[in-house]
Amino acid sequence: CGIVGVVGKPAREVVLNGLKNLEYRGYDSAGIYLNDLQGHEFLTKAVGRISNLEEKMTPDEQGTTGIGHTRWATHGHPTEANAHPHYSADGRFYLVHNGVIENYADLKEKYLKGVHFNSETDTEVVVQLVGKFADEEGLSGYDAFKKVLKLVKGSYAFLLVDNTKPDHIYLAKNKSPMMLGLGDGFNIIASDAISVLDQTKTFIALNDGDHADVTKDSIEIEDVDGNKVERESHELDIDP
Ligand code: GLU
Repeated sequence: CGIVGVVGKPAREVVLNGLKNLEYRGYDSAGIYLNDLQGHEFLTKAVGRISNLEEKMTPDEQGTTGIGHTRWATHGHPTEANAHPHYSADGRFYLVHNGVIENYADLKEKYLKGVHFNSETDTEVVVQLVGKFADEEGLSGYDAFKKVLKLVKGSYAFLLVDNTKPDHIYLAKNKSPMMLGLGDGFNIIASDAISVLDQTKTFIALNDGDHADVTKDSIEIEDVDGNKVERESHELDIDP
């Protein structure tokens, strides 16, 4: 039910603090993926409170790219396996998702016969599809993601990491809230700006259908038709 992602600064505390600030939205489980850009990545999930997640994390689990999620289960029980981030069969792509993919069963039937699933969620279909298109069609991670976005129906705020390009976070938004926070040498994404106000007060509100390629010092946004767009940023004049 909440999402936080950051590129370009030590991500563990930023993501965990952001998730704690989103606790008020309600959730049944939580998870985090970290990548240190030196070939190490860490995935941790826990049922229940964020403190349970923190307790499972060892001190060496650090990264400068991170995505985290608090889940309010819509498809699949509130178990550790169903907690996000979800990942593709080849372990290359990691995805968090708020919302509901309405046509996940059709997509699974049409494209993913024989693929082993680790969860019962609607979300996993999306990341498995990205993995499949990247692998079989030789698409870049972002192009595979954009191809999947054209196929999915429903509501979503997605954050995706391709571990062959771990200094990027790819995002997409449709009918679920998502704010893009601009930092000095880092960028941060959250379902609610309030949750990351200790990091920045400058935010871009994304439109439905927008997707973006975000690094620590660049943001490229495209609209639903794939046209490059500039979205205005705004200063939020509130104290955390
Ligand atoms: N539909 C997804 C699931 O059940 C995401 C739920 C959410 O927004 O937290 O895992």
